[in-house]
Amino acid sequence: MARPTLLGVPYDASSSFLRGAAAAPPLIRTALRSPAGNAFTERGADLTLLSDAGDLDLGEDPATARVQIQAGIQQALANDFAPIALGGDHSITYPILRAIAKQQRSLTILHIDAHGDLYDEFEGDRFSHACPFARIMEEGLCERLVQVGIRTLTPHQRDQIRKFNVDTIEMQHFAGGARPSVSGPVYVSLDIDGIDPAFAPGVSHREPGGLSVRDVIAMIHALGGPVVGADVVEFNPAQDLGGVTASVAAKITREIAGAMLLQR
Ligand code: MN
Ligand code: MN
Repeated sequence: MARPTLLGVPYDASSSFLRGAAAAPPLIRTALRSPAGNAFTERGADLTLLSDAGDLDLGEDPATARVQIQAGIQQALANDFAPIALGGDHSITYPILRAIAKQQRSLTILHIDAHGDLYDEFEGDRFSHACPFARIMEEGLCERLVQVGIRTLTPHQRDQIRKFNVDTIEMQHFAGGARPSVSGPVYVSLDIDGIDPAFAPGVSHREPGGLSVRDVIAMIHALGGPVVGADVVEFNPAQDLGGVTASVAAKITREIAGAMLLQR
């Protein structure tokens, strides 16, 4: 198995509401390495084995940044790294998946979010952070898309779910006991706003009524297949309170990395 490796993607120019997520990667790293904790995950993985490839150097122009993100992930894969991308806004998942899909067939994406991110276009932008999963499904970059925590669907997004045959577990159904069943190679895309803002206020689009931190960790621990890559996106430090969201982003990053380390 490839070596789990952090890769910062400091990009937020495709955010539709508030900017700020580009500042997240160093704060997640600091919380992850904080002497307040130790180097072991809940399941005993040793995080001193987690490597770090630093941050990508990205331009402001969205089209240029997408090319750079895809190339950066391709380089990471060529180095035999399994990337854990620290975003950045959610638009980065599309170029990341374009790189991963080249070497990974029959991929399942576990997408945790308050939002479906399936708009065909949003305010005239087909590459907005509201659209990445529409692009991913159009290009067939995964075999199966499983969404969890969604609580903001519009009629258009419900049409998109049907069109692309997405397996969407809305938050109202998760609350009733529905859980994802995921096997085979999996890519985890975690939008921090899928978590309730009571736990994670540092996001650009606060949507109450969401997942607990424990809900997310339990889903990561329950994954059946190997985790081949992940992203943790939409942490917006400018909206955070006392660093609590940085701690949440770091905690979940640790458990994702732990799942990857334990399968090596
Ligand atoms: Mn979201
Ligand atoms: Mn999102």
